[in-house]
Amino acid sequence: MKLFFVIAFFSVLHIRAKAQENIYPAYTGNDLGLIYSKTSSQFRIWAPAATKVRLSFYKNSTGGDAYKIIELKRSVQGTWITTLPGNHAGTYYTFSVEHNGKWLDEVPDPYAKAVGTNGKRAMIVDLAKTNPDGWAADKSPVLKNLTDAIIYELHVRDASIDAGSGMANKGKFLGLTETGTKNTAGQSTGLDHLVQLGVTHIHLLPFFDYNSNDESETQNPQYNWGYDPLNYNTPEGTYATNAADGAVRIKEMKQLVQAFHKKGLAVVMDVVYNHTGLTAKSNFNQIVPDYYYRKTKDGKYSDATACGNETASEKAMMRKFMIESVLYWVKEYHVDGFRFDLMGVHDIETMNMISAALKKIKPDILLYGEGWTAGESTLPENKRALKKYASQLNNIAVFSDDLRDGIKGSVFEAKERGFATGDITKAESIKFGIVAATQHPQVDYKKVNYSKAPYTNSPGSVISYVECHDNNTLWDKIAISTPGAANEERINMHKLALSIVLTSQGISFLHAGTEFLRSKKGIENSYNKPDSINAIDWNLKTVNNDVFKYVQQLISLRKAHPAFRMQTQTQIQRNLSFLPASSGIIGYRLNGSAVNDTWKDIQVWFNGNATEQPLPTQWTAGYKTAVLDNEFVTATSVEQSIIKGYSCVILYRD
Ligand code: CA
Repeated sequence: MKLFFVIAFFSVLHIRAKAQENIYPAYTGNDLGLIYSKTSSQFRIWAPAATKVRLSFYKNSTGGDAYKIIELKRSVQGTWITTLPGNHAGTYYTFSVEHNGKWLDEVPDPYAKAVGTNGKRAMIVDLAKTNPDGWAADKSPVLKNLTDAIIYELHVRDASIDAGSGMANKGKFLGLTETGTKNTAGQSTGLDHLVQLGVTHIHLLPFFDYNSNDESETQNPQYNWGYDPLNYNTPEGTYATNAADGAVRIKEMKQLVQAFHKKGLAVVMDVVYNHTGLTAKSNFNQIVPDYYYRKTKDGKYSDATACGNETASEKAMMRKFMIESVLYWVKEYHVDGFRFDLMGVHDIETMNMISAALKKIKPDILLYGEGWTAGESTLPENKRALKKYASQLNNIAVFSDDLRDGIKGSVFEAKERGFATGDITKAESIKFGIVAATQHPQVDYKKVNYSKAPYTNSPGSVISYVECHDNNTLWDKIAISTPGAANEERINMHKLALSIVLTSQGISFLHAGTEFLRSKKGIENSYNKPDSINAIDWNLKTVNNDVFKYVQQLISLRKAHPAFRMQTQTQIQRNLSFLPASSGIIGYRLNGSAVNDTWKDIQVWFNGNATEQPLPTQWTAGYKTAVLDNEFVTATSVEQSIIKGYSCVILYRD
């Protein structure tokens, strides 16, 4: 009886809490957080459930007592406000909220633009002073068509931390601003290498302020990918030369963007709005308990991210937060695109609002995400931004895991092979990738590994890739899945895999270091592993220079020939046709003339067999050779009649 009463009582509380949450007024203004000027600082925070809100000021980023505490006044639509006269740039502050008669923890507001060590306190910042010299003239490279993008996925620390990087600012944003850096054999590294390789967009793994890694620890190395957000609107402190001064990390991140832009490289930011690193103690939960998250019927945090919680993009103020956050990164940091982690956790409507808002201020923004979740969500399936609903997403591409695993085998089955490593039964998944997951009359969708239907009607909506930071590197995957294969054979598999990626329609995507056979020593989930696993070993560029040169040439081939970058499904349907071929061979023809390519007619052939195979000369006669068995050759009119095992041949007529 007593127990029943307790349960009933909590149920009533739960229902009441739920009802309150739905009636919280959304704030419609655009001045949440700090509005700084040299004469005053205005603070507005949305805390509709609070009975009191306090703002505490500190001299330092950590330690010491508050030297001043202000109580905010209730304002419109659930917000609280106060204004502090005078110039207070460099002062640290926290909010605390009284909720149900109890004071919650002091935290920075979710909108904080600058934070001190470990993101525990926000900092009043004069953003104009964080601009590097020449920032006003900073210009992003223009992305004419989405399919022109060739993305390179890089972790800030991995890029420079190795002794052989030749960079001075190891592990820092500034490392990537250095030019003239060389490996021990004298070959370019870092920024110069990226330019030499020819990619267009550098996608940086999370560089917002994340929770793992102690920013006050500067002696002992620490590592994390950074998929555990703490303060969404400030850069990570461990990548800055001084984590305590919130302005330093901002300036150094801007210096990175500026250095890239000067070299014609665009910057893509990896964003993780799908969950917070902390759950009960997150900044969101200390300001408006439970509001920003999805909960299950029994009151637990829903966990589609497998990280302990998932945010609720469909709620007005979470949606507003996401939109304002991405706009801020574009306006303040000149970021050129976003990669949305576990995008399937977000609702389609919010993603389209994000896309529309960004397009307004930056028409050539590049947006893509993981069209899946990592667990069950309370958000109805048909509302999730999943790859199967890619056609409902406006200007947001999804990763093609069908192509990825078709090429090399499932990432979940280390020993499984793909087309490029000898499993020729996966040929249809490769064809699916070649047409960028669009509708094509010659693809048998029933035979595609995962998706039994096209995702989309636009090649700009699909990311063609074989490898990213997750799972084994391609080189490791090949080694694990082909025991007994010779090194030379594995190199051919690797080259074939990247040939497929860089000639497929859609948007190309490469994992950093794949161009010189990067290994993570067989560690498939290296998110918190030491530098010895994750660091890019720049001397591999010299050791595997043949592979580097091949990838570099594939990139320049793609850039020179619009036939590999068609812009519409109709163009692909009309101008890409698969040729009859024997088992384990994929051949297709591109009508270059139709898309203003200098090569009027192109043929691409892939052999997933271990052994050499005849090329059907009734098709290949009269063509010049551009690529022969994973090597670029200077224009030759010799007709090719053989394709070697695990290799690519590209022919053309001009
Ligand atoms: Ca941090």
